[in-house]
Amino acid sequence: METDREWELKALCRTHDPETWFSRRTCAEAKRLCKEECPVLEECLEAILAREALTPDTMRSGIVAGLTGAQRAKLASAQRAEPKTAKPTKKAPGPGRPIAPCGTRSAYQRHLRNREPVDEKCREANAVSAVAYRATGSSQVAAAR
Ligand code: SF4
Ligand SMILES: [Zn+2]
Repeated sequence: METDREWELKALCRTHDPETWFSRRTCAEAKRLCKEECPVLEECLEAILAREALTPDTMRSGIVAGLTGAQRAKLASAQRAEPKTAKPTKKAPGPGRPIAPCGTRSAYQRHLRNREPVDEKCREANAVSAVAYRATGSSQVAAAR
């Protein structure tokens, strides 16, 4: 059972006007705060995806972990699709499937899955992929639908 909520105490949004994360007008600022200033972005992302697991896509509101509801819905959908191509496993990967090196989005996601600390290289790779995704509306994330 997940009881470790200590990260929430470090959430940047606790010390700001919550409206910032829910108003369209301030959506860009909310994303920036999440991605550039919040020390618990990874924990937040993992938690919101879990919390919204049963939430209909259109009901995901506000900016959370730097993502809009629609972006979280796509990410969740991509994560659900992932087991088809690569079985997520807690065990070490078999010899046939090399583990993704740090500095890739796969490695970033592996850190989240395994509840490992996320290093700077992986954090960056994920941010880059998120930016690419926002710009094109179709990256690997969307392709996995
Ligand atoms: S990443 Fe999550 S915890 Fe941090 S400011 Fe954004 S919404 Fe709040
Ligand atoms: Zn890494």
